[in-house]
Amino acid sequence: MSATGYSASEIEVRHLKTLYQLLATMTRAKSLEEVYEAALTSLLDATDADRAAILTFDEQGIIQFRAWRGLSRQYREAVTGHTPWKKGAREAAPIAIPDVHFAPDLADHRHTFEVEGIRALAFIPLALEKGVFGKFMLYYREPHQFTEEELSLAQAIAGHVALATEHKRSEIARQEGEQRLQAILDNSAAVIFIKDVQGRYILVNRQFEELFHVSQSNIEGKTDYEVFPKDVADRLRENDRKVLASSTPLAFEEQAPLADGVHTYLSIKFPLKGLGGTVGGVCGIATDITDRRRLEMASVYLAAIVESSDDAIISKDLNGCITSWNKGAERILGYPASEVIGKPVSMLAPPERVDEMKAILNRIRRGERVHHFETQRRRKDGDIIDVSITASPIRDAAGEIIGASKIAREITDRKRTEEERSVLLAREQEARKTAELLIQIGPQLATQLDSEKLAQTATDIATVLTGAEFGAFFRNVVNQQGESYLLYTISGVPAESFSRFPMPRNTELFGPTFRGESIIRVDDVLSDPRYGKNEPYYGMPKGHLPVRSYLAVPVVSLSGEVLGGLFFGHSTPGKFVESHEAVVKGIAAQAAIALDNSRLFEQSQSTRAELELSNSELRRVNQDLETFAFSASHDLQEPLRNIAISAQLLERSLGQHIDAGSLPFLANIRTSARRMGDLITDILAFTSLSRGSEGSCQRVDAGAVLKRVLEDLKSQVAGSGAVVTTGDLPMVYIDESRLAQLFLNLISNALKYRNEEAPRVHVAAEIGDEWSVFSVSDNGIGIDMRYSQQIFGVFKRLHGREKYPGSGVGLAICHRIVEQYGGRIWLEKSAVGAGSTFCFTVPVKGP
Ligand code: ADP
Repeated sequence: MSATGYSASEIEVRHLKTLYQLLATMTRAKSLEEVYEAALTSLLDATDADRAAILTFDEQGIIQFRAWRGLSRQYREAVTGHTPWKKGAREAAPIAIPDVHFAPDLADHRHTFEVEGIRALAFIPLALEKGVFGKFMLYYREPHQFTEEELSLAQAIAGHVALATEHKRSEIARQEGEQRLQAILDNSAAVIFIKDVQGRYILVNRQFEELFHVSQSNIEGKTDYEVFPKDVADRLRENDRKVLASSTPLAFEEQAPLADGVHTYLSIKFPLKGLGGTVGGVCGIATDITDRRRLEMASVYLAAIVESSDDAIISKDLNGCITSWNKGAERILGYPASEVIGKPVSMLAPPERVDEMKAILNRIRRGERVHHFETQRRRKDGDIIDVSITASPIRDAAGEIIGASKIAREITDRKRTEEERSVLLAREQEARKTAELLIQIGPQLATQLDSEKLAQTATDIATVLTGAEFGAFFRNVVNQQGESYLLYTISGVPAESFSRFPMPRNTELFGPTFRGESIIRVDDVLSDPRYGKNEPYYGMPKGHLPVRSYLAVPVVSLSGEVLGGLFFGHSTPGKFVESHEAVVKGIAAQAAIALDNSRLFEQSQSTRAELELSNSELRRVNQDLETFAFSASHDLQEPLRNIAISAQLLERSLGQHIDAGSLPFLANIRTSARRMGDLITDILAFTSLSRGSEGSCQRVDAGAVLKRVLEDLKSQVAGSGAVVTTGDLPMVYIDESRLAQLFLNLISNALKYRNEEAPRVHVAAEIGDEWSVFSVSDNGIGIDMRYSQQIFGVFKRLHGREKYPGSGVGLAICHRIVEQYGGRIWLEKSAVGAGSTFCFTVPVKGP
């Protein structure tokens, strides 16, 4: 019997039950705490202890309370760390203390035990292969004699707990490991999966889920064929098989079309081996290397660009040592990369530019850029070349400046072009200035019609513009007698300065100018080989103004005639330059034109004067003639009338006594007298028009005038059976009687020059802004157009008087009338036998 009064078998049963329950509870336990709690329950159940505790070592090897029953905080704190065994101690056996009063080892804690009401206690080690890792404590209020069973049960419980703890711990460790693994997998940027040998997914990480829009739970246990299209699945499975077959890791690039384009993955697949080395599946880790590839490509392109650039692209570190060197640099500076990499960049600078390089490097260190800095560099062959440099800092990934990139462009050619351009520009500006000057001068010369003044103006202007001390314009002139001589105008000095000297002669210096050959510009006449060759002076005559600088330009007309020459002089050598030549050349050209003009003007002036003279002479003669004709016709009328009357009287007085043979003579006298009378009337009408009696100018209704004329012609119209029609006729400005005269003459001609047909006459008018054009058409005998001008002459007739009587003055009168009003008359159209149309113009507006 034990102290508790149970029989041995009863105790054994109870112990077994306790152990069984403990095992059952521990198997279900989810955590270590639950294991400990179950152990405490079993301990208190199976022993007489009234309190119990479980302690284990921490990382530092200090033993700590993990679970307890009925112990105060103070007690726990007081005894924490107390243990009879060190962590990992082997072969530890339970220690039973029946009464703390008799335990010298625990003397230090006696007071603590007293306060907590502990008289007896037992230490049961918790140990595994690695030795002690903790302990059980059993506490008793009273002194306690420990039985063998009690302690062995406690030990048995300790053994279970130790195993369960270990098991739980490793399970927790495994779970933690798994969680950690999952966390690592999920936080990896790579797409990761694990499949079993049959290709069924066991695990995928978050990247995988996101990439393929699947979740771990619904992909688990599925193969690629259930997740991807067959062709994709085939490819993936193929890779898996390769890995499984080779049993080694394989790396390959895979491409997957995604929403934002095709992505490239670097996939590593490797077999997953179990503990025994058997392959349990395949793990794949795929990294999206699209960006990296892009960057790689970009840097490949960049490198190609750098290599193919015509510019020198160089990089250097902050110590000024060359770190890279492209083909352009080799071409421009002459060194191959191998000769310069690692060398100081200062080797490329001409000695005086080394400091400038340091300054550039300092600016780079401060993170500044240098733009299009124009400087010079020295080539390998020692040549100095002009370059334009752009330099920028190079930074590392952290943004630290680690060097500089430099692009150098050779601008030697450009520099040269620029210089050439500036020379051209200066020349162009000079030319423009000259042109502008000439444009200003042009009108001054062109408006001058007096050749003398013109020559003076040209000389004055050219002298001022060349800065000459004096200038002269010698002109070849031909007088009316055909003799040629030289005239000259002087500028800058009084004309008298030259009057004492002979005219320039055909010497080597002057001759070419007067022959119009070329411009002569001499910096110093005295040292010119052409100078001083001729008698009698051998140079300038004594007293001549001193000339050193000399410029002579021929003045040649468009027709090639040499009009003269412009000469300029200065007492200082080298005064005249190319631009002066251009200016004088321009002035000479303009002067030549202006002189031509003035000559033409002078000629036309004298021609006009001559013309006017002969015109007035003509007018006078004409007037005399007309006055004579008028008075003669007028005076003839009287004797003519006498002849007519005398003939009449003779006829009457002789009566029947007149013999039949004489009768025709008398009749002849009568007809001739009448005809002569008609002629005289016409001549009078014509001469009265010519005698300057200007017709008045009134506004008349042409229609009304025509009507009156037709009234006067009534008997003639009726007699000939003619039909006269008229169109609308306008209001015109003319003397009424003159218009009537026009109509009368033209219509009576139309009636007179008829053929067998009854005459048809049509009068019409076309009204214009300034003039109205009247037309008179008939269906008469017509006129050969060859005579269209002739018929308007005085006494000009085309037809015999027998058939068509008339004086040949009618159309001449018409011509005079329209002429007086500034108009015209003409035969518009006609043909023999086909009628005629006469037209004339009359002003529409008054004066
Ligand atoms: P004339 O007094 O002879 O008619 P004109 O000066 O009126 O003199 O005419 C000059 C000449 O023009 C006429 O002699 C005639 O030959 C010709 N002539 C003028 N008008 C006409 C016409 N309407 N038809 C044909 N010939 C005409």
